[in-house]
Amino acid sequence: MSNAGDSIAVALERLAAGRPVAIPTETVYGLAADALDDVAVQGVFTLKRRPPTNPLIVHVSDVSMAQEVIRGWDGRGERLAEAFWPGPLTMIYPKAPTVPGIVTAGGSTVAVRVPRHPLALELIRQHGEPLVAPSANPSGYVSPTSAGHVREHFTEEEVYVLDGGPCLEGLESTVIDMTREVPTILRPGVIGAAAIAEVLRSEVRSGVSTAFGTTRSPGVEGPHYQPVAPVVLASTIAAVTELLERVTGFAVVLPPPTASIAIEPPHMILAMPHNAREYARELYASLRQADAMRPSAIIVGLPDASSSEGDEAAIWLAVHERLRRAAARGT
Ligand code: AMP
Ligand code: MG
Repeated sequence: MSNAGDSIAVALERLAAGRPVAIPTETVYGLAADALDDVAVQGVFTLKRRPPTNPLIVHVSDVSMAQEVIRGWDGRGERLAEAFWPGPLTMIYPKAPTVPGIVTAGGSTVAVRVPRHPLALELIRQHGEPLVAPSANPSGYVSPTSAGHVREHFTEEEVYVLDGGPCLEGLESTVIDMTREVPTILRPGVIGAAAIAEVLRSEVRSGVSTAFGTTRSPGVEGPHYQPVAPVVLASTIAAVTELLERVTGFAVVLPPPTASIAIEPPHMILAMPHNAREYARELYASLRQADAMRPSAIIVGLPDASSSEGDEAAIWLAVHERLRRAAARGT
């Protein structure tokens, strides 16, 4: 196996040639291209079959690179960057003219963040320009949290994979709209509203409801993160048992983390971690593992978040939102 320096050299060459490179981040693996090169960015949309109405996040190495792609950077952004960057917080600001319209789906705002993985940071620094990096999977499928997951979707010729090991957080970043008077969370992530409000010392709104409330952000509602097998959610053990009785063929069960449940063949069980952070980290790998068994259904016992507080409560909220969208049908 080649060392990190060699891999970064290959990745840099591919990026310079306008070819997509899969990069490790602390959230999920991203399909990276130069954010200022509209032809390269188009290649990412095409490869992912991503709807052109769904804007991309611009990944930068630091605040000064962020300021090159946005307008109106302010004290609030500065405080959030200091508290959470590098890390899984994406901020939305008015876009600078240098950002091609394809990146923002034609909109006047741009989403930006500094990822926390050392290889991603090193790549952006050496490339010298910001990178778009939507999840490295066909649009709508479960996001990849390892290099192996990316390789299940794309050939080495299509996508060079910079292997940085498994992703530490495992869920996409929190997205917060800084263009509104009250900063508003458009997509929940491991950094929650309470933690952000504490840093800003001001109100933070949650524009996302786990029941699919209204937001103005594209790509944050409806079906997403979906295995091929239908995902069915159950809030209680009794509900899991009832669902199992109705399945034809076999189901894979991801049980509610703290409950113990006996599953009879042909059904199968994939136990999940009890801890919120670990659950989030493993969720996508487990959904993929379940899907690979080609079951007639994947039954997921919703984690009970009612007694959690602080960061843990925020992570469960994000997990619930991903699971609801994984289970959603139609548009
Ligand atoms: P991902 O699909 O993980 O790459 O994240 C991209 C998501 O960030 C999109 O689906 C949107 O929800 C959000 N996003 C990106 N850019 C914008 C923007 N300019 N305005 C609002 N939301 C955005
Ligand atoms: Mg995605």
